[in-house]
Amino acid sequence: MIDYRNLRIAVLGGGNVGANVVDLLARHREELEARVGAGLEVVGVAVRDTGATRSPEIPAALLTTDAESLVTGADIVVELIGGLEPARSLILAALRAGADVITANKALLATHGEELFEAAAQVGAQLHYEAAVAAAIPIIRPLRESLAGDRVRRILGIVNGSTNFILDKMDQEGWSTEEAMRVARELGYLEADPTLDVEGYDAAQKAAILASLAFHTRVPVEAVHREGITGITGADVAAAKAAGYVVKLLAIAERVEGEDGAEGLVARVHPALVPREHPLAAVHGGNNAVFVEAEFAGPLMFYGAGAGGVQTASAVLGDIVSAARRHLAGGPGVAESTSGGMPILPLDDVATRYQIVLEVADMPGVLSQVAGLIAEHGVSIEQALQSTARGEAADPTATLVVVTHRAREAALAATVAALNGSPAVRRVASVIRVEGL
Ligand code: NAP
Repeated sequence: MIDYRNLRIAVLGGGNVGANVVDLLARHREELEARVGAGLEVVGVAVRDTGATRSPEIPAALLTTDAESLVTGADIVVELIGGLEPARSLILAALRAGADVITANKALLATHGEELFEAAAQVGAQLHYEAAVAAAIPIIRPLRESLAGDRVRRILGIVNGSTNFILDKMDQEGWSTEEAMRVARELGYLEADPTLDVEGYDAAQKAAILASLAFHTRVPVEAVHREGITGITGADVAAAKAAGYVVKLLAIAERVEGEDGAEGLVARVHPALVPREHPLAAVHGGNNAVFVEAEFAGPLMFYGAGAGGVQTASAVLGDIVSAARRHLAGGPGVAESTSGGMPILPLDDVATRYQIVLEVADMPGVLSQVAGLIAEHGVSIEQALQSTARGEAADPTATLVVVTHRAREAALAATVAALNGSPAVRRVASVIRVEGL
């Protein structure tokens, strides 16, 4: 039954996502209204340029450049502008005016999440953000609600589609980093300035959001250790492939034991080797996936489109329906859960496995020298593979690929420093963490 009420929806931004949200709301209005039990009326769409061409088209009568007025008269405000300002101020104004808010803005949540959640809690409003991480994939609500009775041990996410596209093409097609980046740019996967993606900033923002939810603890984006994919070469990807691994840029959040034995959490983003048989290894192209290891539920995999106007709009529409239902029922929105209050530990406390690629002098006894040096630092070798010699006959060089057993970051760093200082080692060519085991 449709309530006599019309819920007034203000959409901020009529771009890729905004235009699709408005279009889907118009085309499926009756069905969505039936699910909510009230009218859903888009009262306006704030943009910068009302004359710009949009796809899908937005009725001219809805477009306005006056976002400030729009937010104060709405029941539900949908922020799809992106960036920090004016998105932050408009969301705060909307909450103060009594609206529930939906946003897809990971940068804003990772930077000003605390302020926004507190503003929402003060007025008992809702702040939904399903589209902010991995776009179409439902992951926020499963972590916040479905897994609220479980204990998440670890999250491994492929949350940036453009870097996954690049690494996937290097792996599957044997392309060089430069070639894969060029095609990613041509296909619109990368911006003109690709820093946000390839240096891992975008993934770090999403890691902060996922870690906060999974561990019921506020994790600011500055607390996320971040490394991008620019140091990954075709040789790294080929070596990984030969050893049965695939290189992925992972966002990882996990419970770890600190040096004093107390439990804390570490959030990090970096390239990692993933075993070919791990579900994350099968995530190809621009897709995203989040692999959750929960204590009672066991391993769970969430997979799908990590970008795209209409795909992202699906997540936003789900938030609109959810916010609308609560708006009618009354009562406060789901508050931010910070009851975990876990300490955020440094990367040094992480224990994982590593693949170390070394260029060594090709002479008898080198392998045992290297093994001895590694063992001196409390790290043990699981697997060592030596390639054939190359270089000058008088001074031959061999490549030695070592995979370690689980070791702490601090021990690994000391090992790498010692290897760099060893006369048997010409160069430590790469060190990549091995995850997903
Ligand atoms: P977009 O295509 O660049 O659209 C941004 C819209 O905001 C445009 O319509 C623009 O107006 C409007 N806008 C910009 N500044 C404004 C201002 N000061 N006042 C009023 N309107 C303003 O961006 P998008 O791809 O739709 O992304 C929107 C949000 O969704 C971002 O937070 C993004 O991170 C998030 N998201 C996007 C995707 C995706 O696949 N696209 C996936 C997940 C999450 P004009 O059109 O007039 O320029």
